[in-house]
Amino acid sequence: MKIIETIAEMKAIRIKLKEPIGFVPTMGYLHEGHLSLVGKAKAENKSVVVSIYVNPAQFAPTEDLSKYPRNLKRDLAMLEQEGTDIVFFPADKEMYPEGYDTWVTVDKLTKPLEGNFRPTHFRGVTTIVNKLFNIVQPDNAYFGQKDAQQALVIKKMAKELDMNLNVIVCPTVREPDGLAMSSRNVYLTPEQRKSAPALYKSLILAKDLFSHGERNTTNILEQMTAIIQKEPLANIDYISIADTETLEELHTIKKSALVSMAVRYGNTRLIDNLILGE
Ligand code: AMP
Repeated sequence: MKIIETIAEMKAIRIKLKEPIGFVPTMGYLHEGHLSLVGKAKAENKSVVVSIYVNPAQFAPTEDLSKYPRNLKRDLAMLEQEGTDIVFFPADKEMYPEGYDTWVTVDKLTKPLEGNFRPTHFRGVTTIVNKLFNIVQPDNAYFGQKDAQQALVIKKMAKELDMNLNVIVCPTVREPDGLAMSSRNVYLTPEQRKSAPALYKSLILAKDLFSHGERNTTNILEQMTAIIQKEPLANIDYISIADTETLEELHTIKKSALVSMAVRYGNTRLIDNLILGE
């Protein structure tokens, strides 16, 4: 496994890699969720490139950029174990040199849900993913359903900018008690950690209601909200039942819907989601 820190070296080594090339962009502090994407990339490609880059542009000034968890040594050991060929680990000055001024935005799809609470977040995501795609030039790029809106936004960007690659979305990997794996879970205190599976419980409730014929989203949202509100440490940012492609809120579910939420425990913001009618 090679660790590459500059764009020039990454582009040079790219030419020598066996195709197809699978690519997994991450912010590091890896867990089984990330590794599931690497495993899929490994199974479906001849070469696997993983990037580790905590992208400042997707954090607001009030967010957790400086204390975002990092452990490069552990990440590299995990990636080596998975059979990764190249780890791209650029510095900020490499990705955003002095005077950097070019941004990629997806418009309407980034406005609701996460975009409503983190207005500059997706512009940072789409810009960095675009840059990484240009540098790595993968055939297949792997993203997690855990970040449902991000996956939709990147799929749309790749399609509408005629990018020559496939965006593949992989299922959410969870802890045994249902909590979606996330690098941010380490911030949770033991009490918060104990309470956090409430997110998944509310998603499962939505799924049960839907499978018993409930189609009215107000009824489903009320019962989901009640489950989370039972947890004194949890503060809901939003719970949404939306169209799986446009992310417009639904009053009635026809065939399918994306149920998604963001819940804060202290300063730690957890997101989770599930698709109904898949
Ligand atoms: P991050 O390092 O948080 O930017 O995540 C890198 C990639 O891993 C993104 O495509 C995430 O959606 C994906 N990911 C994060 N957590 C999970 C999880 N629990 N299950 C599946 N994919 C995940």
